[in-house]
Amino acid sequence: MSTFFFDYNSTTPVDPEALEDMLPFFSDVFANPSGQTSEMSWKAQSAIKASHLQISKLLGCKPQEITFTSGATESINWVLETFIRDKKSILLSEIEHDACFQKANEYELSLFFKSHQDGSADIDSLKSQVEQVPSGSLVNFIWAHNELGTILEVEDCIEIAKKAGHFVHLDATQALGKIEIDFKKLGADFLSCSAHKVYGPKGIGALVINSSTVSGMKPLIAGGGQQNGLRSGTLNPPLIVGFGKACEIALNRLAKDQEHYKGLREVFLNEIEGLNYKLNGSQSKYLTNTLNISLIDWKSPSPLFMELMPFSVSQSSACSTESNKKRILSALGIPEAQTIRISFGRQTTPKDCMALADKVKSTLRG
Ligand code: PLP
Repeated sequence: MSTFFFDYNSTTPVDPEALEDMLPFFSDVFANPSGQTSEMSWKAQSAIKASHLQISKLLGCKPQEITFTSGATESINWVLETFIRDKKSILLSEIEHDACFQKANEYELSLFFKSHQDGSADIDSLKSQVEQVPSGSLVNFIWAHNELGTILEVEDCIEIAKKAGHFVHLDATQALGKIEIDFKKLGADFLSCSAHKVYGPKGIGALVINSSTVSGMKPLIAGGGQQNGLRSGTLNPPLIVGFGKACEIALNRLAKDQEHYKGLREVFLNEIEGLNYKLNGSQSKYLTNTLNISLIDWKSPSPLFMELMPFSVSQSSACSTESNKKRILSALGIPEAQTIRISFGRQTTPKDCMALADKVKSTLRG
């Protein structure tokens, strides 16, 4: 397998230890975890309980505040739909991930606050917009930006929204496992995330619902009443177990991962010294694994990231359609063709970064 993968913000491989923990639940322990009568069901139930605990430790929430979903997209849609059903306003930025933006954009009671070019929130705009909507509205924040790597001043943002009497939803999909999260301390009402961004399996994620501030949450998916009636459908023990283990591992190695990415970043930037480039996104609060960079000397209209293959760098979110791909860069006035997003993972080595830098330099020379 090529090691030249620089797109870890799009997804990550399943950690081998997480995979090992998952395997028995595909075959030996296959019983439905909602069953009452088999030992296999009880085993699955206790594994799911353990997973709640592992995830809650990484998120700083109560285990019972976690509801499993198919991933962040479903979690985000669930929160937004809850407010749409009640005809409440939704406030968000124009640089949200499509999972949030597309859902909100089709709703007439959505309102946008401005962002600065580095992806941080325009606090004056936020302050003025929270006053434009009735209290009890929903305010969304993308905590760590998937394209720019910018980490939002989330405490300040939450305080502004809360002071105006609103509910707060954090899209923590890129924050998970990359920065410290203390849901309880933050005082947000909802948090969405996906396992596959944190070396867990695809197809599983969570919505965290603050039990002190939210009551009467209605399900998006109705049916057999699993998960206290909040999200029906047979629970998926292997994916849940993998998600839990991945979170446990992420918590144990958070500082080590951050240092690793910092080192890789330095190697890459040293190697491209002398090139005419601009780093996009906040340079004071950012995900250490993410570099968003415009190479000014790339004058061709064809996107630079395409020329860098087989190095898997990207320009924007892997999950956007072609027409949506450039939405965020163009909203921020960042030149598209010259801009690449590099996202490092645990497997990335300094040598990989040197090879990528060589490829960038040779591509620019033409
Ligand atoms: N939010 C952010 C910030 C993301 O980066 C992503 C995926 O890239 C999502 C939401 C959607 O996650 P998923 O595709 O796992 O549902």
